Amino acid sequence: MSLQLFNSLTRRVEPFAPLDPSRVTMYVCGPTVYNYVHIGNARPYVVFGVLANLLRRRYGAVRYARNITDVDDKINNAAREQGVPIGVITARFAAAYREDMAALGIAPPDIEPEVTAHIPQIIEMIQQLIANGHAYEAEGHVLFAVGSFGGYGKLSRRDTDEMLAGARVEVAPYKRDPGDFVLWKPSTDDLPGWDSPWGRGRPGWHIECSAMAAAHLGETIDIHAGGVDLQFPHHENEIAQSECAHGGRIFARYWLHNGMLNFGGTKMSKSLGNIEKIHDLVRAHPPEALRYALLSAQYRQPLEWSDGLIEQSIRTLDRLYGTLRDLADVDAPAVIPPGVEAALDDDLNTPSVLAEIARIAGEARKAESNEARQQLKSDLLGAGFALGLLQQDPAAWFARGTSGDDDVRIQALIDERNAAKKSRDFTRADAIRDQLAGEGILLEDTPQGVRWKRA
Ligand code: AMP
Ligand code: ZN
Repeated sequence: MSLQLFNSLTRRVEPFAPLDPSRVTMYVCGPTVYNYVHIGNARPYVVFGVLANLLRRRYGAVRYARNITDVDDKINNAAREQGVPIGVITARFAAAYREDMAALGIAPPDIEPEVTAHIPQIIEMIQQLIANGHAYEAEGHVLFAVGSFGGYGKLSRRDTDEMLAGARVEVAPYKRDPGDFVLWKPSTDDLPGWDSPWGRGRPGWHIECSAMAAAHLGETIDIHAGGVDLQFPHHENEIAQSECAHGGRIFARYWLHNGMLNFGGTKMSKSLGNIEKIHDLVRAHPPEALRYALLSAQYRQPLEWSDGLIEQSIRTLDRLYGTLRDLADVDAPAVIPPGVEAALDDDLNTPSVLAEIARIAGEARKAESNEARQQLKSDLLGAGFALGLLQQDPAAWFARGTSGDDDVRIQALIDERNAAKKSRDFTRADAIRDQLAGEGILLEDTPQGVRWKRA
């Protein structure tokens, strides 16, 4: 069997075939960096990271882009509330986000574009949309004219009334149609802004992903992914912008959407306040157990987050690492068993992979011959590898927190401190130094950079 993926655009499971097998392209919408990200935000990055690795195994060359949104009104508000420049907020939380991703074993994407580094491309795309008759300028704003694109609504399949209700559209006198959305808006002197043909201003949210995907991956990409909460309006608007700027050429061939992570029965979200920050969770629990928990449901299904789920994941990993410890006397390379590849081919059926891991471990505990133990250890390590699990030394897992993971976390904190110092946020820099000192980690400034050692 080959890789089958549920494509939200067609509402069908389809065999995946890249446009150019020597260059598979994937774009995933990244976070807005104004606060610590929560464990729900990690769900797309974990599952689509598993997909990126699978594509790399199958095709070799993959270009995976996951952006960082560093221009947004929420960032402006956070900077105002905390009395610091906007760059301090974005540098601090982009570094914290990278640290959280590393802690959860999420490899960095090939490209991590930031909006502030793509303003010329954004302006150019907006100019193209105006030239093609799909956008218009009004009172310092540039708006996308949704009525100009016949395909509007093809992803979310909503009618106009539903779209208006879903987008909670801002009624503004300068809009020709209430559904028209902002591509560019004016900035007052106290807000971040760039010179443009429409005056000093900043981009709207949706245009950034269209412009950055085109800049790094091309006009038509293979896979576009993100949470199902982004399907409308964000992804619908991305399609409208990209296809209208590119003469109608299809923007993304496969649209993948993860289901929501719920907490207390409702979507975990910053605006509702029912969040658990990764930053706190990874300090309270073994990060690998959090990763295991995120993979315990198929990505399109909702997943209810709870302490019980974390506890259960820890117990399962205790058992699996116990098995690996008992197999320490046999040498075996990690080889992904065909059954695991087949489960992933089935629209990334990670619970089925986890069931396969449990089965292999059960057999390994009963196996007596050296050959069988070697084979099963190979399978177990390989199956774990496919999901980014079971790659630690069992001793490190059982020691909790003294593993190599901790070195990654410490280095990420040091990187965050360097970024804070660079943006003159000395309060944050000192807080990180004090936090590390509290853990018995001493920092030393050397000409080669910051070194650390355990006291
Ligand atoms: P945001 O910063 O809210 O734009 O979210 C960044 C990414 O996390 C997007 O792909 C969202 O769809 C995803 N996301 C946000 N909240 C959740 C949640 N509760 N469960 C799963 N994914 C989420
Ligand atoms: Zn996006």
